[in-house]
Amino acid sequence: MPLNKQKSTCEVFLEKACKNLKYDDSVFQLLMKPSREIIINIPITRDDGKITVFTAFRVQHHDARGPYKGGLRYHPEVNLEEVKSLATLMSLKTALVNIPLGGAKGGITLDPKQLSNRELERVTRKFVEKIHMNMGVSRDIPAPDMGTNAQTMAWIHDEYSRIYGHTSGVVTGKPLVLGGSEGREQATGQGVAITMKHYAKHYDIDLENKTVAIQGFGNLGTHLAKFLQHMGMKIIAMSDSKGGVYNEKGYNAYDAITYKEKNGSLVGLKGTTPLKPQEVLEVKCDFLIPAALGSTISKENANKIKAKYIFEGANNPITHEANKILLKKNKIIIPDILANSGGVIVSYFEWVQNIQQMAWKKKEIEDRLSGIMIEACERVFNTVDTSKLNFRDAAYLIATERLKEAIFAAGI
Ligand code: NAD
Repeated sequence: MPLNKQKSTCEVFLEKACKNLKYDDSVFQLLMKPSREIIINIPITRDDGKITVFTAFRVQHHDARGPYKGGLRYHPEVNLEEVKSLATLMSLKTALVNIPLGGAKGGITLDPKQLSNRELERVTRKFVEKIHMNMGVSRDIPAPDMGTNAQTMAWIHDEYSRIYGHTSGVVTGKPLVLGGSEGREQATGQGVAITMKHYAKHYDIDLENKTVAIQGFGNLGTHLAKFLQHMGMKIIAMSDSKGGVYNEKGYNAYDAITYKEKNGSLVGLKGTTPLKPQEVLEVKCDFLIPAALGSTISKENANKIKAKYIFEGANNPITHEANKILLKKNKIIIPDILANSGGVIVSYFEWVQNIQQMAWKKKEIEDRLSGIMIEACERVFNTVDTSKLNFRDAAYLIATERLKEAIFAAGI
């Protein structure tokens, strides 16, 4: 690695896992380098007749355990280094929960709020036009992530199907009418809730009336808030990109969702005091769930975190420097590759249903999701209980070993 290149947070954790597994450095180098990095420039004619060129990335990390799998993100800060790190994280996530998929990630550097729906459709279709040969049911299967949704996946599905004929399994997170799966939209939030519930059961903690702060109120944050409320927890702080809200007595998740749908933001929600977006991370509470961007907890604010438990809803929300600071303060951190794996697990179910041309009932999907997540939780918690590893190191150890074994079994 060139001396001037800083390791990403995921690389630092992966390197530690390789050391814990006593792997040679060459194995770390092998696991760190993705199989393929694709950069595409996409010109589109805007609604006003002007031309804009957007840059898109797709990084395919490893497919030894199954086809490449990972989200497609639309955000103004998307860049190759971040996409690479997120692709590696996907390979580790699918390995940890032991589903037969590999890891990938994609993104287009754009702010979806600044484009009309027709412009977003044009960018998405052109993206497929330029990358379809690297996609496929047994090749690479995108899914929604920040700034993309079921509509984006529907455009991908339609454009790909124009070339290859109807191919539902090429993308997951689709609308139900196009072969989407029951339970996919809520799956990531539900998965975080399952992880919290199972953690509480394993370590004998009563979640009733425990306070929660959630950063990010999009797909993940909104569904998670509903699940936690049903579990009897008290949501006292939440934020979106425009700002945060606080009420020490807690507030109703459904009211907050209705308010956000109507007003485009949480700011001004009745009975709450305003917070700056970052301040939600620093409120006094039992559980903190970062569910927005990566690296929102860094060495600059790690010392201000008051929550005892942090469940990583977002991918890479804690930098490796902040991770060290928080562990020194005896914080319990449940890592992204476990806590937010519900999304990719139900994406896997969607893919299986599409291949089989079947549609499973919601109850079956929820039961299967719980089963896979509880098994992964148990494996991680038992590893922590019988070693000196923290939760992240334990999860990375299990995932890294599975990934390495598959790569070596397939042959270099
Ligand atoms: P989303 O686009 O639906 O929502 C993101 C939310 O974050 C929005 O409410 C936005 O306003 C808010 N936000 C942006 N910047 C913020 C800031 N500085 N402070 C506070 N809030 C801010 O995205 P999502 O699908 O909910 O994804 C959120 C995170 O979860 C991402 O890191 C994503 O990678 C991760 N994730 C999502 C899924 C999934 O299935 N959707 C699966 C696994 C992981």
